[in-house]
Amino acid sequence: MTVEERLADIRQRISKAEQDAGRAAGAVTLVAVSKTFDADAIRPVIAMGQRIFGENRVQEAQGKWPDLRAETPDLELHLIGPLQSNKASDAVALFDVIETVDREKIARALAAEAERQARRLRFYVQVNIGLEPQKAGISPSDTRDFVAFCRQDLKLDVEGLMCIPPADENPGPYFALLAKLAAASGVERLSMGMSGDFDTAIAFGATSVRVGSAIFGAR
Ligand SMILES: *Cc1c(COP(=O)(O)O)cnc(C)c1O
Repeated sequence: MTVEERLADIRQRISKAEQDAGRAAGAVTLVAVSKTFDADAIRPVIAMGQRIFGENRVQEAQGKWPDLRAETPDLELHLIGPLQSNKASDAVALFDVIETVDREKIARALAAEAERQARRLRFYVQVNIGLEPQKAGISPSDTRDFVAFCRQDLKLDVEGLMCIPPADENPGPYFALLAKLAAASGVERLSMGMSGDFDTAIAFGATSVRVGSAIFGAR
């Protein structure tokens, strides 16, 4: 299949999952994850009308998105990978949405940079939903307080929660837990679901899915 066929297929599967879950058409936003793919691989996806993209490395994103943005001004870029404090300035300058606010130190650095650059970004708090030692994220039990801290003390526009469930396990219960934490924290949006499990995530209330290899091919 071509990248165009794969994208069309993903769009159809998202529509079907919305319908099956009794959710409104268009309730779920597709974030096309273009990490490791260069600008020439991304252009056909932009040409098909996709406007929202995810990248996991600041430096890699800096190498391709300024040109793509100059060609297509209404793109929206999400950072979906871990962020070091010394990259906060570059991240705030380049991205529109940062989905990986996973500790107090980075939240403070992002708030300071957003103010310094007079940039209005949107943020997600990343939750370590399976309490895995190798994964980043706020623990489920700390999520509500951390969201309140980011909003009230740092004035960050936290619009949702993001998670990556443990690999090789049924993701459903983890998606359900993230939805519960979002309701308890007073946030509306849920970034959950990737190529292998986005249909399930939509059934559990995902408002955006982050799909990479199913669109762009294997990395
Ligand atoms: C790479 C990545 C994705 C996309 O993964 P695929 O399995 O290729 O769809 C989604 N979310 C995060 C955080 C990622 O790093």
